[in-house]
Amino acid sequence: MPHVDYARDGATAVMTISNPPVNSISHEVRSALLHALDRAALDDEVQAVVLAGAGSLFSAGADIREFGTPAARVAPQLRDVIAAFEASAKPVIAAIGGLCLGGGLELALGCHYRVARADARVGLPEVLLGLLPGAGGTQRLPRLVGVATALNMILSGERVPARDLAKTALFERVVEGDPVRAALELAGTLSKQGSLVTRRVSELALVEPNLEALCDFALMTVKARTPLALAPQRCIECVKAAAKPFAEGSAIERRLFVELMQTPESMGLRHAFFAERAAGKVADIPDSTPLRPLTKAAVIGGGTMGGGIAICFLNAGIPTWLLETDQAALDRGVTRIAGIYDAQVKKGKLAQAERDQRMRLLLPVLKYDAIGSADIVIEAVFERMDVKLAVFAELDRVMKPGAILATNTSTLDVNAIARSTKRPADVLGTHFFSPANIMRLLELVRGSATAKDALATALALGKTLRKVTVVSGVCDGFIGNRMLEHYTKQANYLLEEGASPRQIDAAMEAFGFAMGPFKVGDLAGNDIGWNIRKRRRAEKPGYRFSTLPDKLCELGRLGQKTGAGWYEYPDGRKPLPSKAVDDLIADHRRGLGITPRKIDDAEIVDRLVYALVNVGAHILDEGIAVRSSDIDVVYLTGYGFPAMRGGPMFHADAIGLPLVQRRMREFARNPHGDPSFWKPAALIERLVASGESFATVANAPAAGDSGKRPAEKKGVAA
Ligand code: NAD
Repeated sequence: MPHVDYARDGATAVMTISNPPVNSISHEVRSALLHALDRAALDDEVQAVVLAGAGSLFSAGADIREFGTPAARVAPQLRDVIAAFEASAKPVIAAIGGLCLGGGLELALGCHYRVARADARVGLPEVLLGLLPGAGGTQRLPRLVGVATALNMILSGERVPARDLAKTALFERVVEGDPVRAALELAGTLSKQGSLVTRRVSELALVEPNLEALCDFALMTVKARTPLALAPQRCIECVKAAAKPFAEGSAIERRLFVELMQTPESMGLRHAFFAERAAGKVADIPDSTPLRPLTKAAVIGGGTMGGGIAICFLNAGIPTWLLETDQAALDRGVTRIAGIYDAQVKKGKLAQAERDQRMRLLLPVLKYDAIGSADIVIEAVFERMDVKLAVFAELDRVMKPGAILATNTSTLDVNAIARSTKRPADVLGTHFFSPANIMRLLELVRGSATAKDALATALALGKTLRKVTVVSGVCDGFIGNRMLEHYTKQANYLLEEGASPRQIDAAMEAFGFAMGPFKVGDLAGNDIGWNIRKRRRAEKPGYRFSTLPDKLCELGRLGQKTGAGWYEYPDGRKPLPSKAVDDLIADHRRGLGITPRKIDDAEIVDRLVYALVNVGAHILDEGIAVRSSDIDVVYLTGYGFPAMRGGPMFHADAIGLPLVQRRMREFARNPHGDPSFWKPAALIERLVASGESFATVANAPAAGDSGKRPAEKKGVAA
């Protein structure tokens, strides 16, 4: 199949990049582009060229699967192709519709004219992968849109509607209709006027008297916002270099692009990009798996989670029943949902008419019989097995055959809930994160009896609700919360041994977390962990954990909601150090007979991150997660793990498992440590022995039984 279609329209050659689904500029496309350009050059009847993309989108950019592979280095490279288009003796007009991103926009910038549909979106998203636009984007864009706009676009990576840039020199025309037609008309008109010429952007001078000040300001802003990220700083350097002659600026851009390609930051972000795309793919649920209909939904419980989940459905245009125990609770639930929408209207993020339309889709009810025809029902009632089982008994009674029965439980046994019904194949977990209408992660919990078409339908629902969906088997806490428990446990041990909440939070924030564990505890409510520990104590009397956070809760210091937790909150949300907490910790240490020691930040970071890694390894080995990158996705999208570190498992692979294993053994020797906690998971031992990494582990399909089905020892990543 040709990657660039070539046709003639009178004296104009029309080249169409055709590489579904997004016309990415792969090596084949680059070669085909040059070939098409040569063909136009040799055709005496061709006076101009229109360059477009098939399927109403120009191009979403370079093929990033090639990054780091030999294909990326094989000639012709993108910058060579762009240089050839710019050097063409026959004028080239880019006809832009749909998306024109990254390398796609850089290619368009190498053309002599650009015509865009008003709703086409253009952008340079490379910074989001820890890179910079390395094929002339940082040099040509400022010459056309000015330094301030170029900096905004390059540093945000955002997609800007063409209509917003209509007044800049980026576009010759911004049109409502077909951009190819408009480009052909432009060629005809200019040709008749004798003014169809090869205007090369690289030959323009960048005139910006405030260049220095604009770049300094941008640098200050990015250093404050993302102090660890190198890519934004390098982008600014490049834009500044655009004031130099093009060849000089381009050489700087090239050098810095190559440098960024090797940074852990870019490798982590690129891993995260691919990990998100792989998440939700399950080997035994092929795309061809039949889906159940899903046009009507119901949510049981209109509290924090139920309200947010209902909003997800309403936003997707799906009529949704909301069921509560009594009228007052139902009214509270509806008011909460309306309140969230009203706040969005107030901020100008949602039109009033749209808000009203969505609220009309909400159907508040008190009786189960009203919801029987829903295609899916999600239970979000109190986290108590007896309450959940009573709800599922009702659902079993009223729901139509084939309806999916889902629970939003954070920790309870989905298999036990399924078994309580007469239709365990229809039961699964949909673990949303709070606030459910904002957080992107959806952990789908696959029970041991869950039917494949039920899971496939839930996966499709995840896409409809615009979630990043990861499949987890059944275990206490699933992927995310099971790991979090161990992370928090280590944070508490570190307090016992000598660190302060402030030091631990600061160390984790310097590592890249938006918030350290104690600020998170105060925000979410320290009673959540308290309740879990009470349950653990009852279930597993020998289970080891610090009682320090329980003592904090016993003082009523539940976090921001009580005005005090690990920190004081005299003015609402700003955490201030607490003398009372320092005294509590000192007292607790005395009780344990621990003389506090100075703990360095590296130990804090390694203990918290490797705690995640060790449990992550168990989760992978037990087949609870399908692949290690799914665990990364859970942590990146649900728990604020720094994106530029690629997730805990990728981070461990990048450090090297032998070093991680060594460090775990070192922690096991800590006199106040917990040697069983730090025993490296069997999977780590095996991978170290075979010289492999987490990324090489491919599991059989997640099936729901915790611990019963060991993962295949190793294999090729799916
Ligand atoms: P919540 O207390 O805010 O809301 C629970 C709601 O369920 C209340 O409005 C209550 O009136 C209603 N309810 C109780 N019993 C009911 C019944 N028999 N029938 C109908 N409605 C009933 O709780 P939440 O924070 O929304 O949590 C709900 C579920 O989601 C729990 O299983 C929880 O573990 C899980 N979850 C919570 C979070 C979180 O951060 N809050 C995150 C993920 C999952």
